[in-house]
Amino acid sequence: MIEIEIITIFPEVITEYINSSIVKRAQEKNLLKINVHNLRTWALDKHKTVDDTPYGGGPGMLMKVEPIFNALKELKRENSKVFLTSPKGEKLVQSKLEQLSKEKDSHYIIICGHYEGFDQRVHDYLIDYEFSIGDYVLSGGELPALVLVDGITRLIPGVLGNKQSLESESFNNDSLDFPQYTKPESFNNWKVPEVLLSGNHKNINEWRRESSKIDTLNKRPDLGK
Ligand code: SAH
Repeated sequence: MIEIEIITIFPEVITEYINSSIVKRAQEKNLLKINVHNLRTWALDKHKTVDDTPYGGGPGMLMKVEPIFNALKELKRENSKVFLTSPKGEKLVQSKLEQLSKEKDSHYIIICGHYEGFDQRVHDYLIDYEFSIGDYVLSGGELPALVLVDGITRLIPGVLGNKQSLESESFNNDSLDFPQYTKPESFNNWKVPEVLLSGNHKNINEWRRESSKIDTLNKRPDLGK
């Protein structure tokens, strides 16, 4: 089972998502356990302060190091891996999610930032891996944390009913998924390709392979380079 701790100042944002759909189902099947923690629990003062102004001046506030240090002191185990959400981190890719979903008895701790980010000492001394979900800046680490959790969850063996659906998916083998259609055969005179209605599986597979190749070349020529 994979166990994940999420440390945030907005626990309710996380709770709603992890108690729906596939992430909920994975927890019900005991393949995953997620615990959500309010960082303010580990604040030092009675106002539960977790942020402060930057040394050297400048706009905005930074997440303080001590509450995070104290949270980790309590939550960390021998086998824990601590993840920091950060636009400066390594960009998350499907192969990383694969790897994280397959590790046995893993314990992951994800820290969500806010404001202008973290005191640099959090980056330097307290974490194992800093990840970004793309080259843009969000206001908080909750969405990135959920991206990581969702991406891992659907790859845990036993979570999705149909293993085959994972194999042809985008980014597996450096290619994009092939185009798919469902009923009706014709809508607004927009037609489903003939070959998919033919029942000839050899031709269908060939069409899918070829379409996936063309799509990948056109939309993501960088894949596999
Ligand atoms: N001043 C920082 C941005 C802080 S954004 C900078 O310019 O690098 C506030 C918080 O949102 C971050 O600490 C992080 O937890 C989260 N965040 C924002 N964008 C993110 C991204 N692309 N990937 C992962 N986390 C992100």
